[in-house]
Amino acid sequence: MTKDRTFVIVGASLAGAKAAETLREEGFDGRIVLIGAEPVRPYERPPLSKEYLRGEAGRDKVYVHEEGWYGDHEVDLRLGRSVVTFDPDVREVELDDGERMAYDRLLLTTGARPNSIPVSGSDLDGVLALRSVQDSDALRERLGSASSLVVVGSGWIGAEVAASARELGVDVTMVGHEAVPLEHVLGSRVGAIYRDLHAEHGVQLRMGTGVEAFEGIGHVERVRTSDGSELACDLVVVGVGVHPRTELAARAGLAVKNGVLVDARLQTSAPGVFAAGDVAHAHHPFYGQRVRVEHWSNALHQGPAAARSMLGGQEPYDRIPYFFSDQYDVGMEYSGNVTDWDEVVFRGNRDGGEFVAFWLQDGRVVAGMNVNVWDVNEHVQDLIRSRARVDTSELADPDTSLESMAGAPSTDN
Ligand SMILES: Cc1cc2nc3c(=O)[nH]c(=O)nc-3n(C[C@H](O)[C@H](O)[C@H](O)COP(=O)(O)OP(=O)(O)OC[C@H]3O[C@@H](n4cnc5c(N)ncnc54)[C@H](O)[C@@H]3O)c2cc1C
Repeated sequence: MTKDRTFVIVGASLAGAKAAETLREEGFDGRIVLIGAEPVRPYERPPLSKEYLRGEAGRDKVYVHEEGWYGDHEVDLRLGRSVVTFDPDVREVELDDGERMAYDRLLLTTGARPNSIPVSGSDLDGVLALRSVQDSDALRERLGSASSLVVVGSGWIGAEVAASARELGVDVTMVGHEAVPLEHVLGSRVGAIYRDLHAEHGVQLRMGTGVEAFEGIGHVERVRTSDGSELACDLVVVGVGVHPRTELAARAGLAVKNGVLVDARLQTSAPGVFAAGDVAHAHHPFYGQRVRVEHWSNALHQGPAAARSMLGGQEPYDRIPYFFSDQYDVGMEYSGNVTDWDEVVFRGNRDGGEFVAFWLQDGRVVAGMNVNVWDVNEHVQDLIRSRARVDTSELADPDTSLESMAGAPSTDN
């Protein structure tokens, strides 16, 4: 019955590839076309700043599927091809080689691209960004001969690149606007733990300052900062966030604001068109507002959720946002989505580097992060979802089970 239908996915990314997989798993036997601008079959990006960057894992470890999977599952994978426009009224996409293709359902998984900083010298050789596997290859090669790297940005990408570069023996200076690394997500107390971690591993931290210019003749030789310093270097990585790739959706007249606007089923403002992953600004039933998540787990799960909606499923996507990071020998998982909180409570050995941090608002846990402590994140998520008011001394006490706290009824409404 679905054989004569065509579902087109724009963005051969993690979200896009997982959507294709789910369509087949759910029994869709029509045509699936997965179109990707990159010349590489779908891959996962987290290793690109970690083990892949350090040369500890090869390409085979990053792909979402084996090479033969697409053919075996009759997924028409078009690599090195971009969709330049689509018309939601006539349901047709146009590729950069002029091919037009009719669709019954369209999924946008166009992801995000790195921000650049508008200062002079940004185009000098040796000033790099990190998003694609080719970027990671290029950076690894440069790190092999670099003696000093300046990482601009103290968010996740900057922190992970700094850690990998130190592990490869390169001198690293981190420049960031924040007072401590990761402050915008974790706050100053938990961010300070990452500051100390990087300092212990020899990273020079230049916090609370920005970049005025990259300087050098042809190749970057130094970074001039807004506090008047000049940092000599032969390599720069700029990791100052990303922005969603919404141009295609905007050109087609879809509602776009900090991403492609989608409802809880991941449907856009155009009938038959869906969006998932970094590009989707989705209504989140648990939070009662739109949320756009730039993390691996969101792409992994939203792709399949969008696929089910494309097949007529009515289930809302309401997973609690989750991400992970590995720096040196410190692994962490974080669940939640907050920018405001009243207090942070620690459970476990903070100085020994094995603890869980909880962010609370009005006595309720709104986010939690386990650091070198495993098998608790599910309970952290239950606690967030329960909206239970918690006793902070119990929360700090490793002998009180998080499951029991999530089960405790909320004392007010
Ligand atoms: C170096 C690095 C490390 C990371 N580490 C972590 C981590 O440790 N933990 C974590 O939770 N998250 C991490 N992330 C974030 C995570 O990788 C992203 O959230 C995830 O890749 C988003 O996937 P996506 O499928 O939404 O889109 P993307 O991965 O951005 O892919 C979108 C694809 O669509 C293609 N495309 C765009 N427009 C078009 C078009 N018009 N036509 C055809 N193709 C198009 C793009 O070329 C791209 O290939 C990391 C990201 C990077 C870059």
